[in-house]
Amino acid sequence: MMTKAAKQYFDLTGRSALITGATRGIGFGLAAGLAQAGAKIILNGRNPEKLAEATDRLRLQDVSAQTLCFDVRDQPAVQKAINNYESADGPIDILINNAGIQHRQSLEDFASDKFQDVMNTNATALFYLGQAVTRHMKQRGQGKIINIASIMTKMARHHVGAYVTAKAAVGGLTRAMTAEWAAYGINCNAIGPGYISTELTQPLFEDKAFSDWLITQTPAGRWGQVDDLVGAAIFLSSPASDFMHGQVLYVDGGMTVTV
Ligand code: NDP
Repeated sequence: MMTKAAKQYFDLTGRSALITGATRGIGFGLAAGLAQAGAKIILNGRNPEKLAEATDRLRLQDVSAQTLCFDVRDQPAVQKAINNYESADGPIDILINNAGIQHRQSLEDFASDKFQDVMNTNATALFYLGQAVTRHMKQRGQGKIINIASIMTKMARHHVGAYVTAKAAVGGLTRAMTAEWAAYGINCNAIGPGYISTELTQPLFEDKAFSDWLITQTPAGRWGQVDDLVGAAIFLSSPASDFMHGQVLYVDGGMTVTV
């Protein structure tokens, strides 16, 4: 028996969502999308000017957002920002761990500092954020954590070895969070986007040979757009996913089932 009206399953009214790396690309698009579902938005970025610009762009869409400026790799800064927000402004109900970087180099020549930086940004930082919000969510007996994974969580390509390693770790971390935090009423899941046209993938988008290959290898026959991810993010942030734990939801035009 349904216990809610259909749209209540996806209603985020009164919920606040912190989205890391939200000054552009997927993070910015998810922030705008969650706002449309009623969420109060907290944008994170590490550059105050870019954060202010992103807030202005959201305002053009009639969305007013708060900001938390910190580098996701800096654990004391992460903890301070989240604890201060929770005591001064209110609860963080939803965390979208989105900030991420890429570095392209053959594995043989991969610079170790670059490898570490990709690991720190794309994997370890998700643990810092998750741990900091969970300490508060646990007391309320509810929360939603969404880690942005990738099709590289279960696949690989040449010259993105650190990214493949880090995104595989995101799948493991999502399961580890679930094993320990589901009992607190916290849903930890991941979204695994396929190739989405953003600044991160600009070099691939502009490479005609790659783009042609991608389109033939993707059953949906096209690049993904940021908007393609909004429905999954609302689902995983909302009561509709209350019994979903530890999963990676691939939104990839079908790529992971055919390549
Ligand atoms: P973009 O490069 O367009 O945006 C990345 C965002 O993360 C920027 O706002 C950037 O801000 C921020 N960021 C990077 N490092 C940090 C940091 N240390 N602290 C805080 N913010 C930081 O990337 P996308 O939007 O394409 O990617 C977003 C996420 O989605 C990433 O995790 C990526 O791996 C994942 N993803 C993307 C896919 C795609 O095809 N685009 C496919 C699968 C997954 P700044 O300007 O300060 O660098």
